[in-house]
Amino acid sequence: MIELRNVSKTVLSGTEPLTIVQPLDLVISAGQYVSIMGPSGSGKSTLLGLIAGLDLPTTGEIVIEGQEIGALTEDALAQLRGQKIGFVFQFFHLVPSLTAFENVLVPMEIAGATDARTRATSLLSEVGLDGRAHHYPAQLSGGEQQRVAIARALANDPPILLADEPTGNLDSANGRQVVELLRTVNASRRTTIVLVTHDADLAASADVTLRMRDGKAETVAPKSSMSEGYG
Ligand code: ADP
Ligand code: MG
Repeated sequence: MIELRNVSKTVLSGTEPLTIVQPLDLVISAGQYVSIMGPSGSGKSTLLGLIAGLDLPTTGEIVIEGQEIGALTEDALAQLRGQKIGFVFQFFHLVPSLTAFENVLVPMEIAGATDARTRATSLLSEVGLDGRAHHYPAQLSGGEQQRVAIARALANDPPILLADEPTGNLDSANGRQVVELLRTVNASRRTTIVLVTHDADLAASADVTLRMRDGKAETVAPKSSMSEGYG
């Protein structure tokens, strides 16, 4: 579960303080699929970075899987991130000198998993890339690269997957495939997913949508299926 209490973020813009995320309370239940929508510059990435513990809030508290992240040392926070959170980016961020298989393998080897090779194979199969394991990123389409990135984000089976505009660099057909894959991951693994997108159609696939404008977040009425999303 993810809980934000009175979380805000203020930065210095030149010499002036600028609040880029206005105070916000938010509870995301285990297994829920939440989308964050809003125009460019509205604070979506900042909010996702706060949830990921990549950035600290100016006010408020963030609780991830029962741990208040402001109370953690840098090492403990890094460990929490490694174990609990998978992250998917707009530009994939695959290591170009590694194959798809190796990109998925590396985080498991770092975590010391004993069955890393078997799991890398099965993760690539889960994202529909059986035949592509030994291709390098440059040999894959954008949609395929993003699916490798999703497999990598799931390598350590995190309870939470955060995705910042994962379809922003894909055509609409590939974008839909990626969002369908996230849906499947949410349903089959019960992974909590927070998806940032400015595509209203993609956002609508979530259980609940948070709409951001000028750093202010408002919840859009959840779909009636949301009650099934609680874990
Ligand atoms: P989005 O992801 O919705 O496009 P961001 O969260 O990246 O928006 O940014 C929100 C606003 O905050 C933007 O206007 C951006 O320029 C500004 N911003 C983000 N980070 C900083 C920072 N470290 N210092 C100053 N301004 C920032
Ligand atoms: Mg952004």
